[in-house]
Amino acid sequence: MTNQITRCDCHLHTDNSFDSETPAQRQVARARELGIEYIALTDHCDILEWSDANIARSNAQAMELNAKYDDITVLRGLELGEPLQDMDETARVLGLCEYDFVLCSLHNIRGEEDFYYLHPDRAQAADLVRRYFEELLEMVQWNEFDSLAHLTYPLRYITERDGVPVDMSSYQPVIDEILAMLAANGKALEINTSGLRNPNGFLLPTVEYVKRFRELGGTYITLGSDAHTPEHMAVGMAEGIAAAKEAGFTAATVFVNRQPMELPFEK
Ligand SMILES: [Zn+2]
Ligand SMILES: [Zn+2]
Repeated sequence: MTNQITRCDCHLHTDNSFDSETPAQRQVARARELGIEYIALTDHCDILEWSDANIARSNAQAMELNAKYDDITVLRGLELGEPLQDMDETARVLGLCEYDFVLCSLHNIRGEEDFYYLHPDRAQAADLVRRYFEELLEMVQWNEFDSLAHLTYPLRYITERDGVPVDMSSYQPVIDEILAMLAANGKALEINTSGLRNPNGFLLPTVEYVKRFRELGGTYITLGSDAHTPEHMAVGMAEGIAAAKEAGFTAATVFVNRQPMELPFEK
């Protein structure tokens, strides 16, 4: 059976992440129920606070579950957060295991807490978001990853949760630089559907940025629900795929042994 909604979900957490209690086996069971062909377990490695044991365990479980079933490929992923904030630790985690897929993200900018914990007013938000995109650009220049996670992450909390508006137009030049460099480096942009689970939610990023990535030469997009529980798996994928198609992409990409492999969308 082929799932009509999505063939892949490349952003999932298990109890090897600090913020999930879901055993990897349950994520895989849910994916098989949905007929998803490829999933990546992308447990958190926030570089200032991570555990060797959890990352090694996530990696081993992905391999074990991948070997167990014929109808699904379970990829050894990693959500590498804030890699530039401790380059020695970043080198260490990248050398700790072999990965299929390294998803790069920025949850907290230098000297600040995760956006999850921040409740800025409008002026503070403008400054934080500017610093966010500046650090994101540095990460993209660093380039040691496969896909860039949730490009507009701060909006998940500032706008979607707290209702504080952010004038995104002032960041367009730096966002263009980020997207153009990702494209030139042959890296993927993630369409993260987790925002849709918020009351006034939207895709991270919205279709306008997916289109811009395409215009600037982008080739690959990855799809991720960022599910921390089985019931959130693949939620919002129809919207994510619609955005990708509207932007001109004809396939979602999964990474196997750090190499892109395209899964064409149904017409
Ligand atoms: Zn994340
Ligand atoms: Zn995540």
